[in-house]
Amino acid sequence: MQLLDGRIASQIIQQQLAEDWRSQQEFLGRPPHLACILVGHHPPSETYVASKIKACANIGFQSSLIRFPDTIQEDELLEKIRQLNADTAVDGILVQLPLPRHIDEQTVIQAIDPDKDVDGFHPINMGRLANGLQGFIPATPLGILLLLEHYRVHTRGLHAVVIGRSHIVGTPVSLLLSRNREPGNCTVTLCHSQTRHLELFTRQADLIVAALGKPAFLKAHMVKEGAVVVDVGINRVVDSSKKLGFRLVGDVDFEEVAPKCSYITPVPGGVGPMTIAALLKNTYEAARLHAQHRFSS
Ligand code: NAD
Repeated sequence: MQLLDGRIASQIIQQQLAEDWRSQQEFLGRPPHLACILVGHHPPSETYVASKIKACANIGFQSSLIRFPDTIQEDELLEKIRQLNADTAVDGILVQLPLPRHIDEQTVIQAIDPDKDVDGFHPINMGRLANGLQGFIPATPLGILLLLEHYRVHTRGLHAVVIGRSHIVGTPVSLLLSRNREPGNCTVTLCHSQTRHLELFTRQADLIVAALGKPAFLKAHMVKEGAVVVDVGINRVVDSSKKLGFRLVGDVDFEEVAPKCSYITPVPGGVGPMTIAALLKNTYEAARLHAQHRFSS
């Protein structure tokens, strides 16, 4: 069994991005700039945004953190997004989800300029992805591809089973794995909460992507010997022995499943750090795109 270590792969990708940005400094004119909007004080969101800001600083990218109280009205948030869309000093805009219930997430996502949508959630980028066109790929699915690529896990011809059909993870992953490129070229089965006899599918899978948000859900009897297992889940489970009173657990029962796998991602330290690397990659691509626009206009 080989561990797909997202911390190592993410660090290498980030070092490469730092070098790319330095070598393209003259063309880009300024560091790539990511603007993060954070509404309220949702503890996991605070942690995710802090890691994104820190990662930008580590590789010489610029970042801005724009905070709003959870009482903010949708119009005010949309106005801020309009300003960031128009700001030529900003390359990427990220609105950390979830948003408070009184704000419609789709309206907010659709307000972001698709060329600054480094989270890849805008329907235009989703459409580009579905049609195999160039666009921003959502950070977690892109991170999974980069991880498979980094460890040279060949996916052509594999039967991939994706568990979970969210727009953020499961659905884009299933599209990406079925594309005619590497990583890709899998035969994909997309399973979800209404799938009957899930284990009939997972037991046939050469590659499993677990993205359902249920701690230690995937057990050894559901996995074929030699399978590649990518665990996307990040679940907090109460643990009084920890300083914060919880620990992070994936959707895969790692202890049980790992011995059967050819490759497996740990949680933490698997897909999580890759999501950051992919976000930075998208931010760099956005900066290149904007520099190209400046040159051609
Ligand atoms: P979601 O709640 O939006 O979607 C969950 C999906 O799982 C749904 O499509 C549902 O149909 C399916 N599902 C639920 N129960 C099921 C069952 N018993 N059998 C089969 N399918 C079932 O979740 P999400 O936003 O896609 O996130 C999934 C997990 O990934 C969460 O733990 C989340 O925290 C984590 N996540 C991690 C990262 C990262 O960077 N590592 C990024 C995004 C999400």
